[in-house]
Amino acid sequence: MSATPLASPVNSLVSEKTTLPPLLGASVAELTAWVQQQGQPAYRGKQLHEWIYQKGVRSLFDISVFSKQWRATVADVPVGRSTIHYRSVAPDGTVKYLLQLSDGEIVETVGIPTEKRLTVCVSTQVGCPMACDFCATGKGGYKRNLERHEIVDQVLTVQEDFQQRVSHVVFMGMGEPLLNTDNVLAAVRCLNQDVGIGQRSLTLSTVGIRDRISQLAEHHLQVTLAVSLHAPNQALREKLIPSAHSYHIEDLLAECREYVAITGRRISFEYILLAGVNDLPEHALELSKHLRGFQNHVNLIPYNPIAEVDYKRPSGDRIQAFVTVLQQQHIAVSVRYSRGLEADAACGQLRTKSPR
Ligand code: SAH
Repeated sequence: MSATPLASPVNSLVSEKTTLPPLLGASVAELTAWVQQQGQPAYRGKQLHEWIYQKGVRSLFDISVFSKQWRATVADVPVGRSTIHYRSVAPDGTVKYLLQLSDGEIVETVGIPTEKRLTVCVSTQVGCPMACDFCATGKGGYKRNLERHEIVDQVLTVQEDFQQRVSHVVFMGMGEPLLNTDNVLAAVRCLNQDVGIGQRSLTLSTVGIRDRISQLAEHHLQVTLAVSLHAPNQALREKLIPSAHSYHIEDLLAECREYVAITGRRISFEYILLAGVNDLPEHALELSKHLRGFQNHVNLIPYNPIAEVDYKRPSGDRIQAFVTVLQQQHIAVSVRYSRGLEADAACGQLRTKSPR
């Protein structure tokens, strides 16, 4: 990635605070170019990088290895960190954060600790325009895309709060990542190269936006792509996901096959289980027919309740019956028992409501 995003506004930026792009999200090359424009030696760029990504500095004024005089000049240059507005811990250790952004908007982030991992579920938009029927985020409407620094900040915030390195990031919080592709890809680059998380430990989840999966394939990333399929046919998918009306399931699956062919990476299909709606054995059979012949995996997500709709989570037996059909059809399958239910931090429960 080039140094352009920071290059032009930066010369005049100390006096014109509002035009400044925040430094978080920038690569070491971009930061080096920036310090040099400020008349500083190149090695200051590496120091700045270390202070932003490893020490988590929130103001350049606090970088003690810089001269006092220069620190005072650049003290107003935004690093781009949020503040924790609210934090709640579920009994299973999952932590939900409401983070306040520089314009006052709030987004949700979830930290999910397991024995060997610390996973962060990041938001990519304030709200979401997709309005899937079973998802709390969609019920709250859409405000705006997140900038790259606002996505990276979520990971650093969880890392600091847990005092533990984040091992995995899933782009499964509020918003539709492929409606914000530029910032999401910039955040992926940064999380990989600057924060140091392996690409294979990053998962992008999308409901499917026409042509965007093909475009993503051209980047030849090693990240995992998860696609929210949720139904085995067009008619049922349309009932659950409004955007499916203008993007036929066959077209979506064709793009997915192309993605696998180009990247060599298998796709993970997310499938929410709604009792009596899409969880019957015949649905599993129909699903398996679509998924034959290319590398994929089905991740079943038993429905997590939200207030506005009266879907039900299927019983354990029904879930197991669905799994069995897929296995008989030689489809790789797993069940995601969501963490953080008690903190309203599980899949689909994210909304920026005030603390209870
Ligand atoms: N916009 C992205 C990320 C959404 S959240 C996408 O659609 O993939 C990640 C997953 O949680 C998606 O598969 C989403 O459909 C699912 N989800 C939404 N509401 C849910 C709920 N109430 N219970 C279980 N999963 C839900």
